[in-house]
Amino acid sequence: MAAHAAQRDDQLCNGDDDVPELYNSDDEEWNSMEEEGYDHVSVPCVFCDRNLGSVAETLQHCKADHGVYIPELVNKHSLDDYGYIKMINYIRGNKCPAETLLMVPNGSLPWDNDEYMKPVLPDDPLLQIDVEELSGATAMMLSPSTDDQASGLLHRARQAEDRAQRAEEALAQAMEDLNKLKLMAQGLVLDADTNRGRSSLGPVAELRDDEDEAYFSSYGHYSIHEEMLKDRVRTDSYRDFMYNNMDVFKDKVVLDVGCGTGILSMFAAKAGARKVIAVDQSEIIYQAIDIVRSNQLEDTITLIKGRIEEINLPVEKVDIIISEWMGYFLLFESMLDSVIYARDRYLAPDGLVFPDRCNISLAAVGDVQKHNDRVAFWDDVYGFHMTCMKKAVLPEAVVEVLKPETVISEPAVIKTIDCGTVTVSELEFSVDFTLKITLDTFCTAIVGYFDIFFDMRCRNKVEFSTSPNCPKTHWKQTVFILESPISVKAGEELQGQITIHKNIKDPRALMITLDLSGRRQTYSLQ
Ligand code: SAH
Repeated sequence: MAAHAAQRDDQLCNGDDDVPELYNSDDEEWNSMEEEGYDHVSVPCVFCDRNLGSVAETLQHCKADHGVYIPELVNKHSLDDYGYIKMINYIRGNKCPAETLLMVPNGSLPWDNDEYMKPVLPDDPLLQIDVEELSGATAMMLSPSTDDQASGLLHRARQAEDRAQRAEEALAQAMEDLNKLKLMAQGLVLDADTNRGRSSLGPVAELRDDEDEAYFSSYGHYSIHEEMLKDRVRTDSYRDFMYNNMDVFKDKVVLDVGCGTGILSMFAAKAGARKVIAVDQSEIIYQAIDIVRSNQLEDTITLIKGRIEEINLPVEKVDIIISEWMGYFLLFESMLDSVIYARDRYLAPDGLVFPDRCNISLAAVGDVQKHNDRVAFWDDVYGFHMTCMKKAVLPEAVVEVLKPETVISEPAVIKTIDCGTVTVSELEFSVDFTLKITLDTFCTAIVGYFDIFFDMRCRNKVEFSTSPNCPKTHWKQTVFILESPISVKAGEELQGQITIHKNIKDPRALMITLDLSGRRQTYSLQ
């Protein structure tokens, strides 16, 4: 109620301490209002035709002659400023008798209607009063220590303090809302200036917002970010890479593609970046705004809400792109496409993309017990055949943490990605592989995982792996269960071929086809 409050402050507040005197109940103290220029105000009574010389006098008259002390009504019905205004207009508009007013029950207010926000009297002086002052007036009236100057002052000081605190909170909230609005507006404006329809971008870049809504809304929830931040292998690696290679970041302009909570941007800022532009399409960016501000990094980090493919950055080029784009089996989510887009559009000619290199690897798995539990299980379920269910189970890749002892081959790298040069089309591929078996057993599945490297022009190289032999990460491993276990011997080489492509219906999902020992199975990862 800012406009009303401003008017009220002008009229009622003592310029020095901003504490209105209205609630001092004895005549002498009421006078303080008069000293401030209220003696010539004509304030009509709400119940009769009398005009009195001040708000205070009118209130006293209502009490003395009509038996209604308005501040008490305000307290009784816990009225806020709006409620109070509506009540006054209701009384005036309906010429409501004083007795009726006293009988209004709590919680059922006849003036609880916005039509009563309209003043009945133009410039009604009674509407210029703050209900807090009226509540104070009641407190002082009811208190036997009304005359006690010290307690009165204390009371007023507390009220002033409360008000100041509430105002401060409201201001902080308003600032935050304003910033969010600014970002939203920015999002809208930038949305209008899109790059849609460019055919060379690849299927993910060409997705429309509505098609990608589920994807981005999943990142709007805090839990996914909590999981990522608590993945120490992941987050420590990004931090160590930036903090231990500050010379790479010093005075650089950095773009964080998919900033989430802003963690990587803050690492970059602390590592000496001159400017960090943090982009995310998901609602989590609103938290990132608060996070960046509460860490006093707002001068370095600029946050932009939008799909990187659809916005225009406030700079022509950036020196470094950082992003944590990796999905299950590395390529699930296809977010690397967005990083490639950002790289091709914004990276300066000698700029760097981090992480700069990744491997995808496969290994053979021998875990007959688990295979029985997942596949043979359907042959006899409480004495019934449910064998047909295998057709539903097998084509789904399983994301889980494998026991390292179930790995029965040396790993084979099937793909190396140079993030500085890779193209979107290279992320769909077919490749032959050989797995060197290390144990006489049955191969029941193939496991896929990836390794990440931060080493380009870094003195202190950092890498991490999502292999079953390494500390687990939230990416776990991706397991492709074989329909029938294959008998294998140590030293034997298991030959196969893997084909990875995007699901045509959902380009963020992957279709993986494995050819192994003359059998072919296609798996989906979604
Ligand atoms: N960098 C953060 C979050 C990583 S998760 C961290 O390391 O913790 C990936 C984030 O990228 C998600 O918040 C997602 O909303 C965002 N994202 C994915 N594709 C994007 C795109 N094309 N444009 C903008 N943001 C994107």
